[in-house]
Parts: sequence; C-alpha cells; structure tokens
Amino acid sequence: MIYPIVKYGDPVLEKPAATITKFDDELRQLVDDMFESMYAAHGVGLAAPQIGISKRIAVIDVTFKEDPEAKIVLVNPEIIHVEGRITSNEGCLSIPEFREKVTRARKVTARGQNLKGETFEVTGEELLARALLHETDHLNGKLYISHISALKRDMMKRKIRKMVKAGEW
Ligand SMILES: [Zn+2]
Repeated sequence: MIYPIVKYGDPVLEKPAATITKFDDELRQLVDDMFESMYAAHGVGLAAPQIGISKRIAVIDVTFKEDPEAKIVLVNPEIIHVEGRITSNEGCLSIPEFREKVTRARKVTARGQNLKGETFEVTGEELLARALLHETDHLNGKLYISHISALKRDMMKRKIRKMVKAGEW
C-alpha cells in the first residue's frame, strides 16, 4: 500500500518516534509499504513519521531500485560513529520543492535492528552517510532544516506559509 507523504507543518514530523518492541508480520508489512511509498515519491530514504506513523523505522535505498542488496531497513537506529565533514544539497520528501546545502559527516556508522530484531551495524559514506543521518534525525523529530542557518530557515518557513495559504502545500 502506498501511503501519502506527510508534509512539514504536521506535528508528527517534530516529535520523537516510539521504539519498536514487536518484530512481527505487521512490522514486515509496514516496511514493505514504506519502500513502496518511498519509491512512489521518488525518494531514497523514508522514515515512518513521514507517513504519519510515529515509530522508529526507516528505509533507505540510495541506488533507487538499481541494486536490491542496497535496500536498508533500520529499526530503532542510532548513530554510533561519525567522521569528516562534507557539504552537499539535501532535500526531504516532507518538504517538497526545497533543497539546501547542509554540512554533515562524510562517513557514518549506524547501529539498528533488522526485521528479526537482530542488532547490526551499517557504515556509509557521502550519500549513504547523509541518508543514515537524515533518517535517524526524523525518528528523533528533527528535520534537515534544523542544520541550516536561521535566516535560510525563516525564509523557507515564510514561503511555506504562503503556499499553505494558497492551498499549494
Ligand atoms: Zn526527510
């Protein structure tokens, strides 16, 4: 099932999501639906709050279907190591039509659980590192715009408010 993507302004995006304790068929279905919803929205990462579900699950595929092995499911993830700095354009499915330069770690290791509840670690560089940080942030109620300057963020918020008023958001 394809879920609609929740947009900036919805409080679900700005509150910490709940820890997953049950690794059952319902979770597996939700993860399938999240991949489907992410691909439908042309994204390379999606966190459950972005479909209105405040649970600590994220899916990532930086190859966008090119490599089935590149699909990553992260349950209850946390960032355990960061290295280096790199600035690159970043966007979010929940803040469509905007992109901003964001400086983040170049190499990142996340620890999380898989669909069986087993703990594993994943290390990524550049785009994957960025995705691991961006999606883990989502589960903590944090959006990428918290990493840009207050001035740019305020400009963005003003534009969004106008779009909301015009019924374009
Ligand atoms: Zn996002």
